[in-house]
Amino acid sequence: MILRIYCKSCSKPNKINSYASDRVELAKEKGDLIKVKCNNCSKTHDYSANDVIAEGSILNLILLVGMIIGTIIIANFLIQYIDKGGIYSMFLLPVGISIPGIIYYSWLLEEKKRIKIFNRFRK
Ligand SMILES: [Zn+2]
Repeated sequence: MILRIYCKSCSKPNKINSYASDRVELAKEKGDLIKVKCNNCSKTHDYSANDVIAEGSILNLILLVGMIIGTIIIANFLIQYIDKGGIYSMFLLPVGISIPGIIYYSWLLEEKKRIKIFNRFRK
């Protein structure tokens, strides 16, 4: 999850560095007025915690790539094992392949929940 504020002058997004999980926490951390200098137009404005929006971060994409690589590695390992392991190891393949997917999916659900909580709650 990433916190962004959209510039009052040019509407371009600016990243807010904070690990706050909701707007109350963010206001506690940054104060009632958050001064943000726009990366695009260099104008500084005061924003309230309500102007901050939570969005999915680039981490989602990195994790997706990690999941695909993880799946390939596990599949490769299991295919080698199946040769020696006989019929029972056949069942390991779908289980092993689905593990990275399950981890990624549950992480994504958690991330979605955090974004929803942040955006729903207005101070
Ligand atoms: Zn701007």
